[in-house]
Amino acid sequence: MDAMTFVLFGSTGDLAKRKLFPALYNLFLEQKLPQAFSVINLGRKPLSDEEFQAYVEQSLHTFSRRKPEDRSQVEPFLRNFRYLDMDVTKPEGYRELLKRIEEREKELNIPENRMFYLSVAPEFFDVIALNIKESGLGSGRGWKRLIIEKPFGHDLPSARKLNAKLNQAFEEDEIYRIDHYLGKPMVQNLETLIPANPVLKALWSNQYIANIQITASETVGVEERAGYYEGAGAIRDMFQNHMLQLLMMTAMHLPTPVTEQNVRKQKSSLLKSLRPICKTEAARHVVRGQYGAGEIHGQAVPAYRDEPGVDAASMTDTFIAARLWIDEFFWKDVPIYIRTGKRMKEKSTRIVLEFKDRLKEQNADADRMPNLLTIQINPDEKITLQLNGRNPLKNGRMEPVTLDFSVPSDQMPEAYELLLFDALKGDATFFAHWEEVELAWKWVQPLVEAFEENLLPLHVYPAGSFGPAMADALLEEQGFHWWHDE
Ligand code: NAD
Repeated sequence: MDAMTFVLFGSTGDLAKRKLFPALYNLFLEQKLPQAFSVINLGRKPLSDEEFQAYVEQSLHTFSRRKPEDRSQVEPFLRNFRYLDMDVTKPEGYRELLKRIEEREKELNIPENRMFYLSVAPEFFDVIALNIKESGLGSGRGWKRLIIEKPFGHDLPSARKLNAKLNQAFEEDEIYRIDHYLGKPMVQNLETLIPANPVLKALWSNQYIANIQITASETVGVEERAGYYEGAGAIRDMFQNHMLQLLMMTAMHLPTPVTEQNVRKQKSSLLKSLRPICKTEAARHVVRGQYGAGEIHGQAVPAYRDEPGVDAASMTDTFIAARLWIDEFFWKDVPIYIRTGKRMKEKSTRIVLEFKDRLKEQNADADRMPNLLTIQINPDEKITLQLNGRNPLKNGRMEPVTLDFSVPSDQMPEAYELLLFDALKGDATFFAHWEEVELAWKWVQPLVEAFEENLLPLHVYPAGSFGPAMADALLEEQGFHWWHDE
């Protein structure tokens, strides 16, 4: 791996301490970082390098999956960290930053490879990219890469505008748009699960699959993020990015060979085949919800509208369910149901493929269940296959039998570890390409407008439930129901 300088904007923020420092530390322990590297951290607080290193150490004790046992273990890692306070909106700071980076590059005798990670609010993305260009930070004699966090735009026009600005400073192949769902080991596993298993590959089409269900449900509410969430809602926060990425990963035709370019081409092609839902039709295929008061794990929790920072008459969606169709040969007539929400009964991200059962009518077994392939992404990572078997201990009664493959979660690398490692290697397979982002926005834009114009009812669901009952009706129209964990 190339020696490099990792420049972290927003290093005193929440994401850095919870995810980025632990990810870098675990990569360091696994010797997956270059021999020589620096992490130059930027924030607004005035801190010395030593103070900042102590702050990073503390974050590792709290958030890393492997805790540092003693100072000697963590010191060789922290030694690479430097801190600089600067206002990212002011060009002067970038000159000082360039000086610091060049000094470190000389000291370590490493090439001018620079990774810029923007862990800051999205309104800073364009100004930082522009300043990187104008200050000369981006014209070193090595590679330069930009990693940006979501959200990528607020709607189609703003995403296009942002992309055009980023392109003034970075080429598309230098931009790594993080969608951390693509870093989850089970999501990455989809890339090999099907081609490596002819038994699944043979069944991966409308001949055998009855429907696909993709769920990402959370038990938490809006927490301290009302300022952002009020303007975003579930449609922008989850649906446009994570949920559509999960759909692409599940339903794309895996290209051979599986290369970055081929995967991207297939994902875009899938999005192009998604049947558009126009604004006036949205209410037939999409359910929008907002949580009311209720109970989570036996504890009373307030309604969304009573959360701090939320407008008492807020129409923001905290839940969305949608029925989608892919207009192409393989997936013709296979409905895809997607739902995501806050304050739901269970915390779970999973993809369920329900198989057709053509012999069911001819067979009197009332207890017979459909075969289900479940890819569980969160909180545990596992794959299960539900079959039917007779239980001799229960008078030969038919029962679902579940084959289960799971890996202990404490051994699983975190999404950010896998993604940072890929970005450092220059592999963008599991990052969102602009074409995908733009196509996803294009598809979602009529829904965003339908929400804004209140063309759909806002169903209030009790916290701790599976969401509005209307979300069940979406499936009942085709004779299906949601598969829950229980
Ligand atoms: P945060 O508010 O906790 O941190 C923001 C950082 O930006 C701080 O270090 C702050 O000092 C810095 N900053 C703000 N204004 C600045 C200025 N003018 N000059 C210099 N520095 C400035 O935010 P966060 O939660 O860490 O999120 C960072 C990014 O990651 C955002 O784009 C967010 O949408 C995204 N994100 C965060 C999470 C998460 O789990 N926290 C998850 C997904 C995406």
